[in-house]
Amino acid sequence: MEKGVSLERALEIANQTPIERYQEILPLDQATGRILFDDLISLVDDPRFDNSAMDGWAVREADCQESGAVLRIVGTSQAGSAEVPLVGEGEACSIMTGAPIPEGANAIVMIEDSTTHDGSVTINGPARPGFIRKRGENLTEGERPLRSGNILTPSAISLAATMGHDTVSVVRPPSIAVIGVGDELTPPGEPLSENSIYESNTFGISSLVKKMGGTPRRSALIRDSIEDLRKALDEAAGSCDAIITSGGVSMGEWDIVRQIMEQEGDIRFWRIMMRPGGPPLFGYWKGTPLFGLPGNPVSSHVVFTVLVAPWMSKSMGSDEANGSSMANRVRVTMQEPLKGAPGKLCMRRISIRQEGNNLVASTSTHQGSGNIHSMVAHNGLSLLPPDTSCQKGDTIDALWLF
Ligand code: AMP
Ligand code: MG
Repeated sequence: MEKGVSLERALEIANQTPIERYQEILPLDQATGRILFDDLISLVDDPRFDNSAMDGWAVREADCQESGAVLRIVGTSQAGSAEVPLVGEGEACSIMTGAPIPEGANAIVMIEDSTTHDGSVTINGPARPGFIRKRGENLTEGERPLRSGNILTPSAISLAATMGHDTVSVVRPPSIAVIGVGDELTPPGEPLSENSIYESNTFGISSLVKKMGGTPRRSALIRDSIEDLRKALDEAAGSCDAIITSGGVSMGEWDIVRQIMEQEGDIRFWRIMMRPGGPPLFGYWKGTPLFGLPGNPVSSHVVFTVLVAPWMSKSMGSDEANGSSMANRVRVTMQEPLKGAPGKLCMRRISIRQEGNNLVASTSTHQGSGNIHSMVAHNGLSLLPPDTSCQKGDTIDALWLF
């Protein structure tokens, strides 16, 4: 087991054990937000044929060199029309956006630049070859503009349809057990006893899992009891692709996740040199990857964002640019000083916004790792390297959270 690792090292260790990828075939209209399992090949050229980018006239460019040229109208090319007239010298064909270019024509005049009379049209503006959308200029048949691991955004869904696909092969969402541990926890909606608090992490973490494209399996809360925890972990390992626990990973006597993983599991690392979120562990329970997240709500969200989310994304075959993700890395100018942490990457909650040409950031609420409101009130995290602080006006790295 490695102790007190950097975030980069923690990721490296976790990435050695990705979740197995399985595929499922979905109708295209149910695939938004899903991750492609295979590359998607275009079944057609796009455009399929030369067509007009404008409503107007298909003409020969040479016939329209001088303003006021009068051309004989030979017919119409509509989007979807089967037969298209030829355009000869001195002739024009009325044409609609998306309609095939008549043979003989090599330029388009916009409708606004023309006046029609009986059977003829006067051209008052330029004839532009650039208004012809050429066959295959966007995509050619056999090209793979969507790759395995890409997330199916609305425009990717549209592209898949453009390429002729009515179904897509996507990554089946990994099922991830989410287990909350602690004697003090009461599910929201139930009466609170003295010194108990509402449990929030299993809800928050499940929501994060969903956002990353997984299926969360929230189990009943576990008391601080090794036996109950063992049972829950066994069940989870038997039915899920990975396990996330919340709480019980610190140094305390009741930190039973750490204890059971030490004694009966297989811990690969414990503690990351970051704040908040220092105590997490990663390892296996009966062969199933397990992330032990800290109980403090901010800590568990932050650790998920910087560790579990990239691991899930990679497991599902994505790269940073095209996969599901929780944050963009940006540079921000701080509008107030920020205190860093000795020996640890410091991720304070910050509010990022555009001001002029700059991204600027500030803080508003109390920064304690128990204050989940701070994650809602802010939209970013500072990335202050270990042993560094920043002054007002300094530019620092940050994560802009989605
Ligand atoms: P632990 O990591 O178990 O020592 O817990 C650290 C802090 O987080 C304590 O204040 C716990 O009460 C709190 N906590 C632990 N688990 C949860 C949870 N599931 N929901 C909300 N708070 C929690
Ligand atoms: Mg606890």
